[in-house]
Amino acid sequence: MTKLGTETAFEVLVKARDLEAKGKKIVHLEIGEPDFDTPSNIREAAKRAIDRGWTHYGPAPGLPELRKAIAEFIGRHIGMRVLPDQVVVTPGGKPIMFFAIFAVVDEGEEVIHPDPGFPIYESVINLVGAKPVPLPLKEEKGFRFDIDELERLITPKTRMLILNSPQNPTGGVLSKEDLGPIAELAVQHDVAVLSDEIYSRIIYDGFEHTSIATFPGMAERTIILDGFSKAFAMTGWRLGFGVMPAVVAEAVTQMQINATSCTASFTQLAGVEALTGPQKEVDSMVAEFHRRRDVIVDGLNAIRGIRCHKPLGAFYVFPNVTALRKPSRWLADYLLNEAGVAGLSGTAFGPHGEGYLRFSYANSVENIRIALSSMKAALARL
Ligand code: PLP
Repeated sequence: MTKLGTETAFEVLVKARDLEAKGKKIVHLEIGEPDFDTPSNIREAAKRAIDRGWTHYGPAPGLPELRKAIAEFIGRHIGMRVLPDQVVVTPGGKPIMFFAIFAVVDEGEEVIHPDPGFPIYESVINLVGAKPVPLPLKEEKGFRFDIDELERLITPKTRMLILNSPQNPTGGVLSKEDLGPIAELAVQHDVAVLSDEIYSRIIYDGFEHTSIATFPGMAERTIILDGFSKAFAMTGWRLGFGVMPAVVAEAVTQMQINATSCTASFTQLAGVEALTGPQKEVDSMVAEFHRRRDVIVDGLNAIRGIRCHKPLGAFYVFPNVTALRKPSRWLADYLLNEAGVAGLSGTAFGPHGEGYLRFSYANSVENIRIALSSMKAALARL
C-alpha cells in the first residue's frame, strides 16, 4: 500500500469544503469535472433502460451494443478500423490505466510517463513493481517534450510509454507531426503505448485530434483510454473504455472479472445514446470551455508574477508562477486561504510541476472572474 499514490485534487476539495463549512466562500478550480449537466437525451436513455430492466449483470467486457457503438465511434473519430472485440467497457476511464499497466508491464520493467502528468500513472507503475521514468514536458514547447529526450530515456527495459493528449494538467496537445517520430521510436524499440485520449473531443482553435494508434505498426501496440466523463459531462456515471489489440482486451477483461465483474448495464445503454444520438450539446460545451479558456488565460496574464500559456485542449491552465518566488504548494495553500480560490500545486503532477499551478476552468465565467480578481488582490499583498 505504501507504493500507491493519490490524486491531490480530492484532498484539496476536502480542505476547501472544510473552509466552506466554516462560512468561507470558495471558487472551485481544483477538480477536473465539467460543471454542465449530462445532456438530457442521455439521461432519458438511462431512465428508459432502468424501466426496461437493464439492472442486471452484463458481459464483463461490456454490452455488445455499446462495444459496437464504440468501435464505430473510433472509426469516425480517429479514422481507425476497430472490431468490437478490441473494446473493453469499464466504470470510468481510470480502470483502463490500472488494468492495462497490470496486464502489460512486469516487475522490474520501465514505463515512461509525462511529468507533469496525471498522478495515477506513476502510482500504478509503482504498484506493479516497475520503474516510473518521468518524461519532462516543456512550457516553451507548448508542454510537449523533446523527441531526443524521449529517445535517451528508452532502455532495453522500457515496456511502455504513456501519452496523454490533450493533456492534464497542462492542456498541451500533440500534433500529427509530433506523433510520427514518437510512433517510429515505439516500433523500433518494441514499446507498448498507453494513449490517454479522454480529452480528445475538448480541443480548440481548429486543432484536430490525432491518435498515435493510427500510425504504421502502432495499432498492435497501443491501448487507447477514452470515456464519457469529460466530453459528455458524465463523471459520476462511471463510464469509460479502452481500445486495444484483441489479445490485450482478453487480459483486461480478465482483470475486470476479478475487480468489478462488469460496468452498470443501464449506464452502458446511456453510453450508446451518447455516441449515437445528437452531438450538439458536446459542441456547445466545448464552445463554452473555449470562451472560459480565453477569460482565464487573459486574466492570469494580467496578474503580476504570473505567465500563462494558452492551452489547446482539455479544460486546465498551468500558469508559471516562478516570478512570485514561492513554492507552488505554498502558493496553492495561500490562494485557498487568502483568496478563496481552490487550485492545485503543479507538483501534484510530478516534480516538473514545481513553479506552476493548475486551475480547472470547468466553472462559470462569472466564478472565474471572481477568482481572478481575488487572486490578484491576494497576490498583491505578498
Ligand atoms: N485520464 C485523465 C488524463 C484524466 O484527467 C482523468 C480524470 O480526471 C481520467 C483519465 C479518468 O477519467 P474517468 O473519470 O473517466 O475515470
